[in-house]
Amino acid sequence: MTPERVDTIIKGAVIVTQDEERRIIRDGALAIRGDRIAALGKRSELEDKVDATSMIDGRRFVITPGFIDAHIHITGDPLTRGYVPDDISDAFGDTLQRWVIPRYLAHTPADERLSARLAAVEMLRAGTTCFLEAGTIRYLDEVFEGLVEAGIRGRIGAWVEGRAFSPEDDEAALTGKAIRLLEQEVARFPADSGARIAAWPILIGHSTNTDEVWKAAKALADANNLGVSAHLSPYRADPAWYLDNLGRRPIAHLAEIGVLGDNLCLTHLVHIDDQEEALLAESRTNAILCPFAALKGAFGISALGRAPEMAQAGMNIALGTDGYGSDLMQKMALAAALFKDARQDTKIFPAGQALDMATLNGARALQLQDEIGSIAVGKKADFVLHDTDRPEWRPVLNVLQQLVWCADGRGVHSVWVDGVRVVENYRHTQVDEDELYAAAQVAGEAIIKRSGIPDVRAG
Ligand SMILES: [Zn+2]
Repeated sequence: MTPERVDTIIKGAVIVTQDEERRIIRDGALAIRGDRIAALGKRSELEDKVDATSMIDGRRFVITPGFIDAHIHITGDPLTRGYVPDDISDAFGDTLQRWVIPRYLAHTPADERLSARLAAVEMLRAGTTCFLEAGTIRYLDEVFEGLVEAGIRGRIGAWVEGRAFSPEDDEAALTGKAIRLLEQEVARFPADSGARIAAWPILIGHSTNTDEVWKAAKALADANNLGVSAHLSPYRADPAWYLDNLGRRPIAHLAEIGVLGDNLCLTHLVHIDDQEEALLAESRTNAILCPFAALKGAFGISALGRAPEMAQAGMNIALGTDGYGSDLMQKMALAAALFKDARQDTKIFPAGQALDMATLNGARALQLQDEIGSIAVGKKADFVLHDTDRPEWRPVLNVLQQLVWCADGRGVHSVWVDGVRVVENYRHTQVDEDELYAAAQVAGEAIIKRSGIPDVRAG
């Protein structure tokens, strides 16, 4: 039999496939051709079957699928990360108005491009190969360019608000403008033909959009095989607003207007009741859990969060960082551990289920389950080499447990996206990282100055 031609083979690694049988292959081999996984199996079985242009000794590595961050803000946060003090007494709305929104508004198009590139490099360096943006981008073209340069996969959306909050605003006009923006972005950055970066009709969520905008977003997603994403009910404020203004709780309202479904991703969902949980499960809506953002934001997730019950009810639960550091491996451990404690039950979210949330479930939430989320022949070559020549990885014994409970993004040595090695030996292969960090420093300082928010820098 003539050996099959492949571009690269990695030999001797432990491969955590996340395939249907959740195989973990010791002394495994993985071959790629173009942007796809061409062959996978035991090294001894694969060696004679493929003829590779290049060979990588994988004995030092554990290979996993690339991680999928299903909720991250790639503009606004990265260039001013950690700036806002966490002990200010403002209510959530005041914090947004005083500290968060001004930082977004102070970004220039070039800042957003830089911010997106920085966020992408940060994600890739921690093993995240695909993300779903939170819908807070102001300059979509520049962000698109910044992301393409970094070689990451993702779905992005412009900042769209269709509801009038002050009597002077014309709600019909705002709604019309919001819907046009959604239509334009989906047409301009289509997801077909395997585009790495594409637009989704992403809504900020909470109470910022009218029913017409929600319905238009859902219709666009249905017609183009995309999804819709929105923030909902991190705090009591969302159910309170819906009850006061629409006479129903948020999920009941979204069910009523027909926008729930398996192509909707709702982030946070902490303050929901039994009926809302049932509606979410019945409609197969995706829940995006951002455990660190929830804990730090004092949402009440340890007391009120329902992730174990949602999972039990068959809901797809994916993970997000929400911009608090881009290491999804840390968040996967935190999400699982948080609910073990909350239910005082160590059997909640075992390691395998935690890893599913960061890989397969993320792929499903992003409507990309046929392309990414596991290592399988024919799927996209999006995967991570974890370096076991590190203190936190030795001795290598129970790989799955170690991956979830002991390791994190520090051990990410190399990353492939679409068959391209974008991280090698802990550095991005195409972005000049030193230049990027210097530019980020200059831009961040200028944004703080322009934004007019208080100067709280040390020194
Ligand atoms: Zn968010």
